[in-house]
Amino acid sequence: MGRPVFPCSLAEFQARFASDAACRHYLAACRWPDGFCCPACGDAGSYLLATRDLLQCRACRRQTSVTAGTALDRTRLPLPLWFAAGYLVTTHPPGFSALQLQRQLGLLARYETAWTMLQKLRRVMVRPERDRLSGTVELDETYVGGVEEGRRGGRQRDSKKVILAGAVEVRGRGRGSGRIRLAVIPDLSAATFARFAEEAIMPGSAVLTDGWPSFRGLSGSYQHRPTVIGDPKNAAKQLPRVHRAFANLKTWLLGTHHGVGAKHLPHYVDEFVFRFNRRRTPMAAFQSLLGLTSQHTPTTDQMLYAAEPTG
Ligand SMILES: [Zn+2]
Repeated sequence: MGRPVFPCSLAEFQARFASDAACRHYLAACRWPDGFCCPACGDAGSYLLATRDLLQCRACRRQTSVTAGTALDRTRLPLPLWFAAGYLVTTHPPGFSALQLQRQLGLLARYETAWTMLQKLRRVMVRPERDRLSGTVELDETYVGGVEEGRRGGRQRDSKKVILAGAVEVRGRGRGSGRIRLAVIPDLSAATFARFAEEAIMPGSAVLTDGWPSFRGLSGSYQHRPTVIGDPKNAAKQLPRVHRAFANLKTWLLGTHHGVGAKHLPHYVDEFVFRFNRRRTPMAAFQSLLGLTSQHTPTTDQMLYAAEPTG
């Protein structure tokens, strides 16, 4: 028994996850794809349903929670509500604001509830990705915020601007992109780019950049292939994937969130990367979001309410 197939429309999704029991069944099937196995005694496949949330081992009687370790741990909200929220956040390309989520779900009387759900789901998205890019990778940097001019030129940099480094895998012969990594960086030095590349790209990969001197340090760990671009207007032609990623990010920040301050920008950047890298695998995104793919400490309500609402 493998992992269940992911519904491909909202209607199909809601029909399938209409009850707590259906959601619980899915959670159990994801967590124990080969059938339930008791963590205490190792007894496989035999259990009783003790309560709405607990499986009880027939052999040793130990009880195991279906939601422990997931984003739904100890929730008081109905599971179908969580599932619908996870589906919307995963499949709606520009991402959701708390107000949009409240309206879409209809059942949430309080804005605060929608906000809390969204924050819990976002906790997963804002953890930086760990797998490094490989193959051939485009690498460049951009400014976010302030006015969009003055790329590296002698012009003064707006102090509100933030520098963002980006790397995108080259896929196929056309302009196809694989996975991406984006990170806020403090400056344009060789040491900074070396550190970004080390965290984002597997050693030995081919790295395509423009002719900026700070990229020269990459030749130690990578097959560095710089291209002198000359006029900055040609940069988007020479490195189309990373420039498209920058443009999409900026559109998303302005369109959905009406601009984001420097303080919160890293979280939004990580959410963008999470969504982009799973754009063709909504089931993987949904399961990551609910905490079904990796064990991590669940976010408690206290942790969330201690945080400051960001919209
Ligand atoms: Zn047992």
